Amino acid sequence: MLPQLYRHRWMDEDIEAFRDQVRRYVAAELSPQLDGWRRQGFIPRETWRAFGALGFLLPELDETYGGAGASLAYQLVVQDELAKAEIPANTGVHNLAAHYILDYGSAAQKQRWLPRLASGELLAGIALTEPGCGSDLKALRTRARRDGDGYVIDGAKTFITNGFTASLLVVAVRTGEAGSRGVSLVVLETEDLPGFRVGRRLEKIGQHASDTAELFFDGVRVPADRLLGEVEGRGFAQLMSQLAYERLFLCVPAAAVIERAVELTVAYTQQRQAFGQTVFDFQNTRFKLAECATLAHVVRSFVNDCIQRLLDGTLDPEAAYMAKLWCTEQQGKVTDECLQLFGGYGYMAEYPIARMYADARVQRIYGGTSEIMKDLIARKLGT
Ligand SMILES: Cc1cc2nc3c(=O)[nH]c(=O)nc-3n(C[C@H](O)[C@H](O)[C@H](O)COP(=O)(O)OP(=O)(O)OC[C@H]3O[C@@H](n4cnc5c(N)ncnc54)[C@H](O)[C@@H]3O)c2cc1C
Repeated sequence: MLPQLYRHRWMDEDIEAFRDQVRRYVAAELSPQLDGWRRQGFIPRETWRAFGALGFLLPELDETYGGAGASLAYQLVVQDELAKAEIPANTGVHNLAAHYILDYGSAAQKQRWLPRLASGELLAGIALTEPGCGSDLKALRTRARRDGDGYVIDGAKTFITNGFTASLLVVAVRTGEAGSRGVSLVVLETEDLPGFRVGRRLEKIGQHASDTAELFFDGVRVPADRLLGEVEGRGFAQLMSQLAYERLFLCVPAAAVIERAVELTVAYTQQRQAFGQTVFDFQNTRFKLAECATLAHVVRSFVNDCIQRLLDGTLDPEAAYMAKLWCTEQQGKVTDECLQLFGGYGYMAEYPIARMYADARVQRIYGGTSEIMKDLIARKLGT
């Protein structure tokens, strides 16, 4: 049992009741299907319609946009519960895409897309990374050329979460000069969109239920009002100003997975026998688990503090970079240490700890790599 954490102001009775609702729904409706989704390599888009109907997709949106006018804490609680149940972060990406529209969309764009994103009628993805650039996004080459009353888009994206299942994409494109000032974001409804093609669904070492795909744009023609915020060249700034939230977003599953890994490992080692005693009784096991439980506690405290600051409007980007860096590194470390205590069973894919270990690896890569986080933190130190 992990020690009780200090109860932050953001955790009230209503949020806990909501959490309980989400947890029960996930256990009853999503978890039983997870093995099948892993085998097929994606979660069907329709899954999220029921999730949206219950108000779990975008509770933080205003009621005019189909939300419940709740605080962002409700969204983070949903992500926490999904991660505890090993459901991948597909709704997390959906959420981040919706926030681009919420923060930068015109009134007409918000009205057009947000209600359908909240209900789950549309599932969203974010397409930034290209075969030739990921960390260095200002080098992106997918081009949106102005043509009459619209744009024609040519290029390719890769590693896109929900790439296979999404019906709406926020896509980073080049509308102008080389470098960051020539980047814009466009929003595409991809169903029956001529020139748009989903390429391979990529095979990964973990996160097997989450689809990750290549996308191709060959002369995709869209009306000019698909440009997010209606002014060209603001895409890079739009991407940058969402980063604190996005980075914190990845820390919540890190905290959830670390806690679950410790719980599973305590339970397993308490029943596994070796040399006439339980594995838990070896001093090495007890020390390792004590270290992991301590990390679980510190990670959760850090994440809770960042959530509180996010809600108060005082979360500075550097704290979010530090949280992303540190929490995801600890997730890798704890899942590795815990796997070791399972022995050979820890390497078997049917054991959750094996999957958690493989799933954790990408947390240090996507949403900005650990190296990029360090670079951003160091830049601020140097000022
Ligand atoms: C499962 C998965 C899902 C993803 N989902 C999405 C998605 O939904 N949408 C999307 O747009 N992208 C997505 N990505 C892409 C992801 O964001 C990129 O892979 C990531 O940003 C790294 O970019 P890259 O792969 O091009 O690596 P590179 O940028 O080529 O980096 C290679 C190595 O060089 C290091 N490096 C790069 N620059 C520096 C520097 N300045 N200083 C020090 N080291 C540096 C990196 O840290 C890394 O170790 C996903 C990736 C994966 C694996």
